[in-house]
Amino acid sequence: MSETAILWFRQDLRLNDLPALQAASRDDRKVLPLYILDDETPGDWSMGGASRWWLHHSLCSLAADIEALGGQLILRRGDAKKILQEVCEASGATSVFCSRRYEPWASEQELLLHETLGDHGIEFKRYGGTLLHEPGSVLTLGGGPFKVFTPFWRACQKQEVAPPLPMQCDSWSNWSKSDELASWNLLPTSPDWAEYWLDHWTPGENGAQERLHGFLDETVSSYADQRDLPAVDATSRLSAHLHHGEISPRQIWAMCEQKKLELPHTATAVNKFQAEIGWREFSYHLLHFFPAIPHSAFKENFAEFPWQPDEERLRRWQRGETGYPIVDAGMRELWATGIMHNRVRMVVASFLCKHLLQHWRKGEEWFWDTLVDADLASNGCSWQWVAGSGADAAPYFRIFNPVTQGEKFDKQGEYVRRWVPELAKLPNKYVHKPWEAPEDALAQAEIKLGTDYPEPIVDHREARQAALDAYQQIRLSNATPT
Ligand code: FAD
Repeated sequence: MSETAILWFRQDLRLNDLPALQAASRDDRKVLPLYILDDETPGDWSMGGASRWWLHHSLCSLAADIEALGGQLILRRGDAKKILQEVCEASGATSVFCSRRYEPWASEQELLLHETLGDHGIEFKRYGGTLLHEPGSVLTLGGGPFKVFTPFWRACQKQEVAPPLPMQCDSWSNWSKSDELASWNLLPTSPDWAEYWLDHWTPGENGAQERLHGFLDETVSSYADQRDLPAVDATSRLSAHLHHGEISPRQIWAMCEQKKLELPHTATAVNKFQAEIGWREFSYHLLHFFPAIPHSAFKENFAEFPWQPDEERLRRWQRGETGYPIVDAGMRELWATGIMHNRVRMVVASFLCKHLLQHWRKGEEWFWDTLVDADLASNGCSWQWVAGSGADAAPYFRIFNPVTQGEKFDKQGEYVRRWVPELAKLPNKYVHKPWEAPEDALAQAEIKLGTDYPEPIVDHREARQAALDAYQQIRLSNATPT
């Protein structure tokens, strides 16, 4: 009689290029596909609201794909260790296969599972597939972790990327004790802030593939020139699919290489896009070697930074009511769609940390709850990068000016007008600085500053100086070079 193996789905909600599935289905084993919603293990980092919304739809899609192949996705909620033991016992499964995760709590969990399941005679095996290169496989000549992106990426490019694996599973288990997905209440109600999100997103493996193909067919050639323009649909929007594992970076890599072979003139743009996938790799690599990154300053002297906690400032930033149009547009795009353009993420993050002197962790937490691509590695590393405390971070004194950033990357004010409609009628000249508009321009645009749209929450020059003074304090009080 053939044995049963559990395929424990985690952040790998796909069937293609899934090494754990290939391994589970070998030797005539029947595969029992299982997803466990484990709210307890991750501590502070249990999934945010936007991620839960995505997860609901992604699980629907995965369940349908498995059903079409003759299997059934089993859903269970609770402590992963307990549930894996229970399901093994009840179904007679003798092995558990999964993809590796890289969050510090996950590595600990995997070691524990290896021991405890092993004590019960159950084999526990984990596989890669989430990254191009496993952490630890790309190291400096001295054998240590890279702390700077460019040499890291150069070293990555010297290594082969394995080709993606085809889907393989001949036989599914018919054990079927599953929770109802609806009973998990992953979708928001009263209010349903995600009411229109399916207009923007198609969670699931098919949605991910469609997006990749659409991007490579129609958009990638302008990626290098337009990726910084938030009004233009010039980036892949694959981050949430990647985060939930609906597509693997190897699949993306292989398609990119093929694109360059077929259309060599796109090579520069495709290389740029691949380098962004490289930033994702770098973030995971940093998280692996420096697991405190999501909560502690990478550059230790920043632990002393004189932040000025202020709930009202934080609330106005979260709601997109700072009076700086590009910042408010970004924060409102995030709330309305679960995503924010990368350039604008940098601007709003810099504004929170440097203009408002709020701790980067406050922004990181807000993004964690509101982004559909919220990712412990990329979010933590990016926030520290912007705050100046991270590995290979932007120098602290490079403080984004939200007006010039808006004027440079949203010249016609299209992005601002889309998300801050009260400014829609302002002429381009003032759309990024409505406080400079003369009375008659404001009247014609039907805006009363302070009533229809806020006055700036801080004065840019004063805020900049305050940030530099704060930075000076940590430089003077701490001998560690930055
Ligand atoms: P594309 O430009 O098409 O890039 C392709 C892929 O490369 C992305 O899907 C993503 O997986 C990866 N990538 C691109 N830029 C970065 C980057 N700087 N760091 C790591 N990976 C990158 N990205 C997340 O996936 N999750 C997060 O929680 C997250 N938080 C961020 C917080 C801040 C403050 C900042 C400045 C950036 C953050 N990013 C995060 C990185 C980046 O903004 C998004 O990955 C990108 O905007 C997603 O859009 P896209 O898929 O169209 O990107």
